[in-house]
Amino acid sequence: MVDKDDVLEALKSVVDPELGMDIVAANMIRDIKVEGNDVKIVMALTSDSCPLASRLKEEAEVAVKSIEGVGKVELELTTMNEEELKALSAKIKARSAHLLEKLPKKDIKKIIAIVSGKGGVGKSSVTALIATTLSKRGMRVGILDADITGPSIPKIFGVNTPPFVLEGKIVPPTSKNGIKLISMNLITGQQEAPVIWRGPLVSSAIRQFYIDVDWGELDYLLVDLPPGTSDAQLTVMQILPLDGVVVVTSPQELANLIVSKAINMSTMLGVPIIGIVENMSYVICPKCGERINLFGEQRGRMLAEKINTKFLGSIPIDPDLSAACDSGSIEDYSNATVQAIAERIVESL
Ligand code: ADP
Repeated sequence: MVDKDDVLEALKSVVDPELGMDIVAANMIRDIKVEGNDVKIVMALTSDSCPLASRLKEEAEVAVKSIEGVGKVELELTTMNEEELKALSAKIKARSAHLLEKLPKKDIKKIIAIVSGKGGVGKSSVTALIATTLSKRGMRVGILDADITGPSIPKIFGVNTPPFVLEGKIVPPTSKNGIKLISMNLITGQQEAPVIWRGPLVSSAIRQFYIDVDWGELDYLLVDLPPGTSDAQLTVMQILPLDGVVVVTSPQELANLIVSKAINMSTMLGVPIIGIVENMSYVICPKCGERINLFGEQRGRMLAEKINTKFLGSIPIDPDLSAACDSGSIEDYSNATVQAIAERIVESL
């Protein structure tokens, strides 16, 4: 006679990859009947159009058939009712709750995230400029490049040494001026190909970049967040013990208010907004030195006033800056405007 408990035990080896738990833990097994050596199972799926239905059924049948002495295995599929679905969803939430808990502060005085509404506004360049200015002032600085989908920090600093592991900790490479850097690029070695990541993967990579990297003692850790307001950014803002957020925007972005979403997200999560940096907002004529506001008056200042935060400053379009970013020599670039922005950030904290 086959034992019901053995059947249940065997079914525990079948994992629903979408739920991240086995079919017994997910309460999918409604009924097990043993008649002699034959086993009849009723399994409830989360939906009648579950794409994994045939796979789960097959795996469950194989698992039960592998028990010694089992004869025929019949597996009937059905769907969960509303109550069962609710219970399952609560279980999933409870299991992942620890993933949303705030991570500890470490030996880092201030952690600042740099955000933008969309890509290409110069978020990474501004992160690198702020880091460089702070490090030139004698601060110990690190950059966690969380822009996993388009990591450009290592290129801007001309660093391509991969991190190494020492006593179970990831040791980050440093820039010329000693800024500690960690980025997906340094690990995959691919500077060009953007990586396609799903929300949960981005969050766990960033978690590891924070927790498993030996940042040592730092005055500032700057986190270059992916642009936008998807799940990944939301999680990062929730789990990292941030002291504040610097919003980088461009005149075009300000015109269609994409950046407002990023601002709303920080406010919703209770992360203070340190201020707004408007990038690429004007040019200085190389012949006469006149300042030309290409996009009309500065909207960044108006937005900052509207949401009651500091306007940290505007950075002109400067071919020298883009050349410094392209050649990996950002630390050789110096600009009084950027220095003033970094000072204001330090003051605000
Ligand atoms: P993001 O991180 O927002 O995607 P990046 O910092 O990678 O944007 O900048 C996008 C491009 O614009 C890069 O080639 C960079 O060198 C250039 N860039 C950024 N800011 C400026 C600026 N103020 N003047 C000239 N080029 C800039």
